[in-house]
Amino acid sequence: MTRIYNFGAGPAMLPIPVMEKAQAEFLDYHNMGAGVIEISHRSKEFDQIIDSCDTMLAELAGIPENYKILYVHGGAQMQFSAVPLNLIGRNESRKATYIETGNWAVKARKEAAGYGNAITGASSEASNFDRIPDFDPASLEADNSYAYITSNNTLYGTRWHQFPDTGDIPLVADMTSEFLSRELDISKFGIIFAGLQKNLGPAGLAIVIIREDLLGHALPFTPSLLDYKVYADNHSLANTTNTFAIYMMSLVLEWLKDEGGVSVMEARNEAKAQLIYDAIDGSDFYRGTAHPNHRSIMNVTFNLADESLLDRFVDEALEHKLYALKGHRAVGGARASIYNAMPVEGCQALVDFMREFERSGT
Ligand code: PMP
Repeated sequence: MTRIYNFGAGPAMLPIPVMEKAQAEFLDYHNMGAGVIEISHRSKEFDQIIDSCDTMLAELAGIPENYKILYVHGGAQMQFSAVPLNLIGRNESRKATYIETGNWAVKARKEAAGYGNAITGASSEASNFDRIPDFDPASLEADNSYAYITSNNTLYGTRWHQFPDTGDIPLVADMTSEFLSRELDISKFGIIFAGLQKNLGPAGLAIVIIREDLLGHALPFTPSLLDYKVYADNHSLANTTNTFAIYMMSLVLEWLKDEGGVSVMEARNEAKAQLIYDAIDGSDFYRGTAHPNHRSIMNVTFNLADESLLDRFVDEALEHKLYALKGHRAVGGARASIYNAMPVEGCQALVDFMREFERSGT
């Protein structure tokens, strides 16, 4: 069997050792005579798995003691509702400010508008979200319950290189498409959330890292399975969770530790992205979509100078086992999503193909 290099935005490829270990343990986990998918979320075996995720996440991401790690249903978009439900009522004004860096931030703001006064603090929509807009956190009114950003913009290939210092106003970040790809100071954030399906495991579940003092402010009509305090009080087991996703995440975290942790991964991700950006910048045939100062190292967006060649580019790439390079329709062009599990060889294969295609296409 030949594996493809999956450049899709997510669900994304997982490390081969992770897939192999899951395969080896699928029928018989630790000599139980049953697979993880078949056993209780209250079994001691599953307890160990979820505990190990807590420990490894805390160690890998440097999560301080006064934060809780939650495993929440519904993936990333469910947190667009859960964040305002849990936090916007912290102040009577029910106000929150969103920095719009792409459609995920816009969607999150619109969702929050159902629960309070969700304000747009800055937006780069006028340039089709090709950059992070200027934003002065000093402009935030003190009665904001929180300020909200999308740290890496999956569709547009941009990221916040430096995070705004919002002082006493909790900063909430959707880190779905970059969590554990770069080193972070978690203490600068009130809440970080991420869907698992890019750097952490299967889709449908999100991790939420929340500062403890932000628990317990949920609006009275919050469904209990969206109330972060219910998750915190029950070790995320108020109901039957997605045990298999948590198990897969435990394998991904083990792999990340074996590889040397987040700093090693960050250096590797920088180098992977640079390979592709160099190929784009070194040729008139390709052009980058995102502003060079705001480029992501997880999602590399570009186009062909002659856009009519794009479909052929994507189709021929597939013949080289380079899968899902078509960009999102909101941006057009091509996109290479190169999360932690994408090996440097995959990026090199893409660059080799880009050069070959340029030669044959001109
Ligand atoms: N936020 C970001 C930054 C994303 O990239 C995505 C998915 N691509 C989402 C939110 C939505 O995730 P989900 O499909 O898990 O709701």
